[in-house]
Amino acid sequence: MAPYMNSDAPLIGSSAAASTEKPKPTSIRVIIVGAGFAGITAAIECVRHGHTAVILESYKSTNVQLGDIISFGSNSSRIFRRWPGVPEKLDPICHNSDHLTYYDWKGEHIYTQYWGSEEENFGKRYNGHRGEIHKIVFDHALEQGVEIRLGQQVTEYFETETEAGVVCNGERLTADVVLGADGVRSKARTLVLGHNDAPKPSGYAIYRAWMDSSELAKNDLTKHLVQEDSHTGWLGPDIHFLAAAIKGGKEFSWVFTHKDTRDVDEGWSEPGNHEDACKILEGWAPAVHAIVRMTPPEKLVDWKLVYRDPLPTWVSPKGRIALIGDAAHPFLPTSIQGASQAMEDGSCIAVMLELAGKEKVADALRAYEKIRYDRVKATQKTARDQWHKADFDNLRKNPEAIKLKREEWILNHDAESHAYEVGPKVLAELHQAAA
Ligand SMILES: Cc1cc2nc3c(=O)[nH]c(=O)nc-3n(C[C@H](O)[C@H](O)[C@H](O)COP(=O)(O)OP(=O)(O)OC[C@H]3O[C@@H](n4cnc5c(N)ncnc54)[C@H](O)[C@@H]3O)c2cc1C
Repeated sequence: MAPYMNSDAPLIGSSAAASTEKPKPTSIRVIIVGAGFAGITAAIECVRHGHTAVILESYKSTNVQLGDIISFGSNSSRIFRRWPGVPEKLDPICHNSDHLTYYDWKGEHIYTQYWGSEEENFGKRYNGHRGEIHKIVFDHALEQGVEIRLGQQVTEYFETETEAGVVCNGERLTADVVLGADGVRSKARTLVLGHNDAPKPSGYAIYRAWMDSSELAKNDLTKHLVQEDSHTGWLGPDIHFLAAAIKGGKEFSWVFTHKDTRDVDEGWSEPGNHEDACKILEGWAPAVHAIVRMTPPEKLVDWKLVYRDPLPTWVSPKGRIALIGDAAHPFLPTSIQGASQAMEDGSCIAVMLELAGKEKVADALRAYEKIRYDRVKATQKTARDQWHKADFDNLRKNPEAIKLKREEWILNHDAESHAYEVGPKVLAELHQAAA
C-alpha cells in the first residue's frame, strides 16, 4: 500500500459505469463557492467519494434562460455518464449530428468532417443549451445530497492549520477545505492568493444566439439547415461563424467571433445589434446574413472574450483552499475545453481527498494542483486560431487542413482513473519533500 493511501476508502469511481454504490463516508467537509459547472461537478464528485459538500452561490435562483450553446468534450462527458440518470436526461436535449460541414465565407463548400471513429474511440460528447444542461446537473446534485444555498455572497476566505472557511452574507462558515469555483471574474484569486490581476480583453468578442428555428424553416436560404440536427461552419479571415440545429432541428444556435477593441470594463455581455453584426459580415454568404436577420433582437448577445494570465499556484499558503474551473484557469472558447477542464478539476480533487484522508487534506489539494497544472496549461494553448488564419487558397488544394483537430490526449482522458493511477505517488512525493 502506498503511503498516504487511505486504505479504508473504497475506489468507487474506478469503473467507467455509473455506480449507485454508496461510498464509505470520509467525514471530510467541503465548502464550494460557486454553482457553475466547476462547483457543481466538484460537489457531486465529493459526495460520490464519501465527503460532504455545501455549495454557496450568489445567484438567487437557477434560471434556465442563462447562456446559449456549451460544449462538453468526451473527456468531461464521461464524468456525466458516471452520474446515474443524467445521460438519459442529456441525450434528448443535446446535439445529435455526426458531421460538421465547412464553407468559406462566400458560401462555397470546403469540406465535411465526420466524427465517426473518433466518437467511438473517445466516447460521446454533449453539446447543448448551457441553462438546460446546468439544470439537469443542478437537480442531480440535490438528489445526491449536495446542499446548495442560493443568494450567498462570499466576501472573505480564511484558513488555519486545522480548518478553512468563508464569510458569506456576514456569516462565518468553516469546513476542512474550501474550493473557490467563482468563475472568470473570481474574487477568490485575490482573496486567497493575493493576486490582484485584472481580467484582460482578448481582442475578440462573440455574437451569440439561441432561438426557435421556425422562421429559418420557412426561408429558402436556411431551411436545409433545420430539417434535422446539423452543424455548419462558415470561415473567413478573422471570423468564424458556427451554427447548430438541435432537438431534431427545432432549435438553432449560432456564434461568430469578431475583433473587439472595447475595454473589459465596458460590460462583458451586451445586447447584440443586427446592423453591427451584418456590417462585420459584409461580403459573407446570403445564408449567414439570413440567419442573423431572422434572429429575434432579444436573443442576440455580444459576449466579450476575456482571459487572465496563468496563476503560479491554485492553492492557498496553508493548503486548505484551492481554486478550480475558470477561477483557476480561464479558457477562450476556441479551445472548446473550458467547461470540460472545470469538470476534470472536481473529479480529480474528490479522488485526491479520498486518497489522502481527512488528516491530510492540504496534501490532497497540493496533489490536485500537481496532477492538473501542466495538463490544463497545455490544453489552454490549444485555443487555436487555425480557422482565422487559414490560407484559403491552399485549402482548395488541401481541404482536410480545415478539420477541427481532435487531440486524443485531451479527449480520451479520464480524470478520475488518472487521479487514482498517479495520486498515491504524487502524495508520497509531497510527503517526502515535506520530511
Ligand atoms: C451566466 C453564465 C452563462 C454562461 N454561458 C455560457 C455559454 O453559453 N457558453 C459557454 O461556452 N460558456 C458559458 N459560460 C461559461 C462557462 O459556463 C464556464 O466557462 C465554464 O463552465 C467554467 O465554469 P465555472 O464553474 O468555473 O465558472 P462559472 O460558470 O462562471 O461559475 C461561477 C459561479 O460562481 C458564482 N460566484 C461568483 N462569485 C461568487 C461569490 N463571491 N459568492 C458566491 N458565488 C459566486 C457565479 O454566480 C457563478 O454561478 C457562462 C457562464 C455564466 C456564469
